[in-house]
Amino acid sequence: MDKYLYTCDYCAKTYVPKRRYKQRFCSNSCRVNSHKRKNRLSPAKPDVGLKAPSDKPHKEGISMAGIGNAAIANVVTEVGKSIFIKEENKPATKGDLQNLASRITERYILIKNMDVRADGAPAYFDTTLKEIVHLKFLPPWK
Ligand SMILES: [Zn+2]
Repeated sequence: MDKYLYTCDYCAKTYVPKRRYKQRFCSNSCRVNSHKRKNRLSPAKPDVGLKAPSDKPHKEGISMAGIGNAAIANVVTEVGKSIFIKEENKPATKGDLQNLASRITERYILIKNMDVRADGAPAYFDTTLKEIVHLKFLPPWK
């Protein structure tokens, strides 16, 4: 008695095949449905005239400084929100700004034994991204 079990390619049910090796589906209807589905998924109609515009080559590599500056902008925005929203209408004091600055400068550690970039931006270790970044401006509050 042959108890060999196949798994239906369509409904994933296990079944005892009537024709071993050749059978892939538990029933005729699964076989038919599978073919229908296949045809639906890959319609063989050539799309003439509606060609998608060819992708322009992506810009390679955002500059490190760009990332760094954007990151700073994010930090400033986030920290700024927490300062300015909690205490409504109260103008930021110098202390607030220094607090903000120190939170940013804590994030970036100047790497002394690394050459500055061609444009003069020194290298920093970004403790949040865990990456070396070149920043043209680090908050001058240091
Ligand atoms: Zn089936």
